[in-house]
Amino acid sequence: MKILPLLDQIAKRAELADHYDLSPSLDIADAQADLYARMDRVVTPPDWAIYAPYVAAINELKKERNAVILAHNYMTPEIYHGIADVIVQCGVHFMAETSKILNPSKTVLIPDMAAGCSLAESITAEGIAEMRAKYPGAPVVTYVNTTAEVEAASDICCTSSNAVQIVRGLDSETVIMTPDKYLARNIANLVPKKNIVWWDGACIVHERFTAQDLKDFREWNPGTRIIAHPECPPDVVAEADFSGSTSGIIDYVTQQRPEKAMRVTECSMASNISVALPEVDFVGPCNMCPYMKKITLEKMLWSLHTMEGAVEVDPTVADKARIAVQRMIDLSAKMAG
Ligand code: SF4
Repeated sequence: MKILPLLDQIAKRAELADHYDLSPSLDIADAQADLYARMDRVVTPPDWAIYAPYVAAINELKKERNAVILAHNYMTPEIYHGIADVIVQCGVHFMAETSKILNPSKTVLIPDMAAGCSLAESITAEGIAEMRAKYPGAPVVTYVNTTAEVEAASDICCTSSNAVQIVRGLDSETVIMTPDKYLARNIANLVPKKNIVWWDGACIVHERFTAQDLKDFREWNPGTRIIAHPECPPDVVAEADFSGSTSGIIDYVTQQRPEKAMRVTECSMASNISVALPEVDFVGPCNMCPYMKKITLEKMLWSLHTMEGAVEVDPTVADKARIAVQRMIDLSAKMAG
């Protein structure tokens, strides 16, 4: 190791030691025996005595700073199991269910149980059974903006960014897509060889845009790049310069850097992207998702203070939903490779 990085590391350690008790400690390790129980197969007791003071200090800071730590599963066990106990889902209910399905041992809190979604609420497992009865043998592809119960009743999930790949990769001419009729129709236009049939659900934010809105906007603001989410009706998508998922939109704007861009999607997304892209002038109407806007700082604080709002998913349902999600991951990887 070179001398300067070594001195830097020593200085940092000294600074931390001034503020926290980070010496190996059996007492602190014992005090966090519950945490250790989750990782005792992969972390030895002497190692835990070294890690435990760090875990205690980080968790204390996490509380003080009102922070949420989402640990990727590539993290080492003392981080993955020791730090991220609680996930506060700042989003809508189906997202909290997905977090719970993917992290069954964690407490997942949602600051407002009424933060729903028009797409997720448009269909139940009975609706899936109805579609199967109408189109026997056809696989059911369910957009992830839906409940765990509906995912569990489906064959495979999709996102707006991998829906084309998933539909193309299925070994069936007829494919049932739920619950978003507009996403299904947009995919049907891109995959004409398949007979795509759909459920009659829609996102109340995206279905409000019309093709005429876009035409008018273009006429009054020449040179504006129009970017639409595929949850919009097909004639809106046809009028746009680009259509893609949230990540696709971010990539497009980041690469193209248009002077002016009209975002035909949820309003806050443009605000969030614009932080990283100050040179792009985001213009156009502001359609907000009323469900997402139920989440406020005050509700988040209450949630953390009381630990109210824990989201539970029946383990049998979660297991089945996880299979549909895993099939999506596997098929996307196969199609991409
Ligand atoms: S914007 Fe709101 S209503 Fe539309 S899919 Fe997202 S959560 Fe659901």
